Amino acid sequence: MTDKEKNQNDDAGASPDNKKKRKKPGTPPGGKSPGNGTFFWILLFFVFLFWYVASSNDFLNSTPEIEYSKFRQELKDDNIRTVHVQGDRINGELKESRRLKEAADDTTAYDSFTTYIPSFGDDQLFSILEERNVTVSAEPETGEFWWYFLMFAFPLILFLLIGFTFYRRMQAQGRGLFNIGKSQAKLQDPSKQKTRFDDVAGQEGAKTELREVIEFLRNPERYEELGAKLPKGMLLVGPPGTGKTLLARATAGEAEVPFFTITGSDFMEMFVGVGAKRVREMFKKAKESSPSIIFIDELDSIGRQRGAGLGGGHDEREQTLNQLLSELDGFEPSESVVVMGATNRPDILDQALLRPGRFDRQVTVDLPSQNARIDILKLHAKNKPISDEVDFERIARSTPGFSGADLENLLNEATLYAGREKRNEVTMDDIDKARDKVMMGLKREGMQISEEEKKMLAYHEAGHALVAAVLPHSDPIHKVTIVPRGKAMGVTQQLPEKEKYLYNREYLLDRLAVVMGGRAAEQLIFDTATSGAQNDLKQVAQLSRKMVTEWGMSKRFGHISFGSSEQEVFLGRDMSRQREYSDSTAREIDEEVKAISQEAFDRALQTLEENREVLDGVAALLIEKEEIPGEKVEELIEKRPAGKQKS
Ligand code: ADP
Ligand code: MG
Ligand code: ZN
Repeated sequence: MTDKEKNQNDDAGASPDNKKKRKKPGTPPGGKSPGNGTFFWILLFFVFLFWYVASSNDFLNSTPEIEYSKFRQELKDDNIRTVHVQGDRINGELKESRRLKEAADDTTAYDSFTTYIPSFGDDQLFSILEERNVTVSAEPETGEFWWYFLMFAFPLILFLLIGFTFYRRMQAQGRGLFNIGKSQAKLQDPSKQKTRFDDVAGQEGAKTELREVIEFLRNPERYEELGAKLPKGMLLVGPPGTGKTLLARATAGEAEVPFFTITGSDFMEMFVGVGAKRVREMFKKAKESSPSIIFIDELDSIGRQRGAGLGGGHDEREQTLNQLLSELDGFEPSESVVVMGATNRPDILDQALLRPGRFDRQVTVDLPSQNARIDILKLHAKNKPISDEVDFERIARSTPGFSGADLENLLNEATLYAGREKRNEVTMDDIDKARDKVMMGLKREGMQISEEEKKMLAYHEAGHALVAAVLPHSDPIHKVTIVPRGKAMGVTQQLPEKEKYLYNREYLLDRLAVVMGGRAAEQLIFDTATSGAQNDLKQVAQLSRKMVTEWGMSKRFGHISFGSSEQEVFLGRDMSRQREYSDSTAREIDEEVKAISQEAFDRALQTLEENREVLDGVAALLIEKEEIPGEKVEELIEKRPAGKQKS
């Protein structure tokens, strides 16, 4: 019940595998959502099902149909109780039930029936009915009509409606039913392309590389005279939200050339061959208006390794990719068209795309450093009413692993907080709240936690916090909270003083102990274990395994890396990657991982035992306040009786 998946619990971005996990939710690595086509077929199926059920006789009429003469016979025998007449149909009830068939072994009897008045009519019917004292009721014939209408017209209408929406959707996407396959590439008028390099903060390395392209596009003749050949394909590579798309636009803006942009997933068409045609057309247009830039965003969705993936190849995608490859090869040197691509999954790209003469130059667009984060924040703060007291450096320091898009989102959330309270200035407090929301999820209001559970939570988090505060190599605590947020019931947030790029063994061991601190506190105080430590344990397992298999940090194996096993990509080429060690080694690795985890737990437990008073103090404060800043924990430690100081 404690920490959360990507978990700050103690790691607010300090752990090496933490950064990777903070992906923008809406950015799956390529691929498209389960097609709307499927939805369409399901609906169609239900329409037919309805039709079938509705039109089958049983559904309309569960009473057996008898001959009219038989009905008259029953009437004569005075065995009819009621009749209900609707048009020429009569539904009736018998006084005494009859066998359906005359056979002796047949037990199916009926006491209500349906019959039809012959078209030549029955003049005497009503008088006989009256004579026999049968209750007669009737209903206008139109009821029948509505039934038929529902049965036939309704599915038809539904069908048309679905067809229509389908058609509309295709039109909305800029292609009617009849111009599927017309190129979808959007041409951006060079004069309207307003994005400039100034709109991109940081990313100096990428900008330097792109400036070369800009120079070339501005004066292609000069380069031609010199006989210089420029890379045709530039691939922007980096995590989501780091500004790849933004950089591509800015490049076109700076060069002031036509900019053709298309997103990889746009190529995914319902008909085979359409994507390939689109590629051909886009390149043709770009060449006609050269110098120009073609930008293929999310290249991985077409550029995935051919022949990989489940269920064999994807014909459409492969055709599109082949076409793209041949277009890339088919450039004349005089055609000054630069092709740019962007991806956050270069590892799953088809190798053929990366060969010389294609996307042979990679431009890395990385997560922003602390200084770059300050610049990005300042850039996005320009058009927002941010108060003067806001300390951008502090925000940047507390947002390791945030991408440009995350930072933009952060300021946006903060502005919303200010707006909600009808203030016209965004304060540091708003930003802090927004950051907590972005990093830890929304506060869950109104959740009922028992005193017992609250105490448990408080000790769990106090355990994390105390170990973090005492061990010498761990990051300082930023905040400890037992306010449930998102999936987490409590969070201990740590913030590194400086951004770390390398993690040494001591740091990692301390970190493992900190993560174990929660579980250790449960053990020490309550002599039990809760399910709340699940994520902690998972984190410990992952980290210690990495230390053993990837970073060569175990005593037993020493400095050896067994190759990464984590990069299994569901549909990528890594799927076939095999483990590079034997079963017995695997067992030894497991033992070593276990030993490291156990040691971490023991260290945490020992730390807590030695500081039992402080642990009680922090837990009590948490129960009272529910959220305490890191300094409070430090304060309590300094006041502790033994007076041991953190080195
Ligand atoms: P990507 O294509 O790498 O996923 P985008 O270019 O779509 O990322 O970035 C999303 C948004 O995040 C941009 O529109 C921009 O507002 C913001 N952003 C990202 N990186 C930066 C940056 N370096 N400077 C300024 N804004 C940025
Ligand atoms: Mg993008
Ligand atoms: Zn925990």
